[in-house]
Amino acid sequence: MPKFSDNDWQQVWAGANIATMAGAGPYGSIHDAAIALSGERIAWIGPAAEARRLAQSKGLPVRETHGQWITPGLIDCHTHVVYGGNRVAEFEQRLCGASYEDIARAGGGIQSTMRETRAATKESLYESARRRLECLMAEGVTTVEIKSGYGLELAAERRSLEVARLLGEALPLSVKTTFLGLHSLPPEFAGQRRRYVDEVSGPWLRDLVAAGLVDAVDSFCEDIAFSVAETEQFLQAAKQLGIAAHVHAGQLSDMGAAQAAAKCGALSADHLEFLSADGARALASAGTVAVLLPTAYFTLRQTTPPPIALLRESGVHLAVATDSNPGTSPCTSLLLALSMACTLFGLTPEEALAGATRNGARALGVIGEVGTVEVGKRADLAFWRIGQPAELCYGLGANPCAAVMYRGKLREIGPA
Ligand SMILES: [Zn+2]
Repeated sequence: MPKFSDNDWQQVWAGANIATMAGAGPYGSIHDAAIALSGERIAWIGPAAEARRLAQSKGLPVRETHGQWITPGLIDCHTHVVYGGNRVAEFEQRLCGASYEDIARAGGGIQSTMRETRAATKESLYESARRRLECLMAEGVTTVEIKSGYGLELAAERRSLEVARLLGEALPLSVKTTFLGLHSLPPEFAGQRRRYVDEVSGPWLRDLVAAGLVDAVDSFCEDIAFSVAETEQFLQAAKQLGIAAHVHAGQLSDMGAAQAAAKCGALSADHLEFLSADGARALASAGTVAVLLPTAYFTLRQTTPPPIALLRESGVHLAVATDSNPGTSPCTSLLLALSMACTLFGLTPEEALAGATRNGARALGVIGEVGTVEVGKRADLAFWRIGQPAELCYGLGANPCAAVMYRGKLREIGPA
């Protein structure tokens, strides 16, 4: 971490309560506090009175926050926001009795979004994804992961990842890209699974990595998608290129995907409704983060929640994300995901908020840079009109975000 003196201060925010999500006590809270910034970095955190005195002695203006809460900018560490069309027709079919598996086997599900994504222009993919990201950003999100996986042919996967990169350059948030090569077997490879996995793990991966489009890879490890062996082949190929991994694991069944994720050193294993004690132990010892996706669980009307007590006992870090996607989680509210993580999965509000800050950062490998409010970290912050941090998990449908700061630049959100 860089060292700062008060001579480096350029902005001072005082009179806030800060949920640092680091250090001791609930939420790492500091009351009647102040934060000073140097460029895009947090240079100082301490008592408001001291900050006012130091700032005055230097003739620096102090911005008063009047008791707002400041948290780390939120991190949505699992999304699929780049896609064509939507799946509202399947939403209706499911409510008329079809299961996710029925729809997938009948060529719906991921395959129908694949057709629309392949047909979409880069501009329309960009525009629809931008609108989804605007919703997330209005709720304090400053870092988002975006997966490909609806192209399922090299050109369309590349286009999706390029759109994700462009969004990260144009919008005030940091984008991590994930090549979800093993999402669903595309129709032109029907009966040729092995050839598909070889292509994705070989030439496709090399091409996309060489183009600088891939921060991580991902595999949907499930019996309607890809096996443990296929997942491991892809993840190991990525590892040899120095690329990190995530795994969609244990959403519909326990195939040992969590163990595979841990064995390959994946940053995260995501979903985990179906997880054994062995799987939880493997995640803990590999330091692989469990990413909980309660809005997908809710949309699919699942009834077996992830084994939270087991994950806690095992010492696995828990993150929470939206899984924003057209089929199983048409959700663009991370605050709603936090609420559901509490009400449906039994997380405490502090665990849920850690899941969208500190542990979301761990799940993306960026904990050294963001995810907590600490000196030296990037000034990615969210300002909230709340009386206590648990309100971020308590409200359903309200947005108490007052302002979002990205790299030291503030944007006001909504009416005061
Ligand atoms: Zn997903």
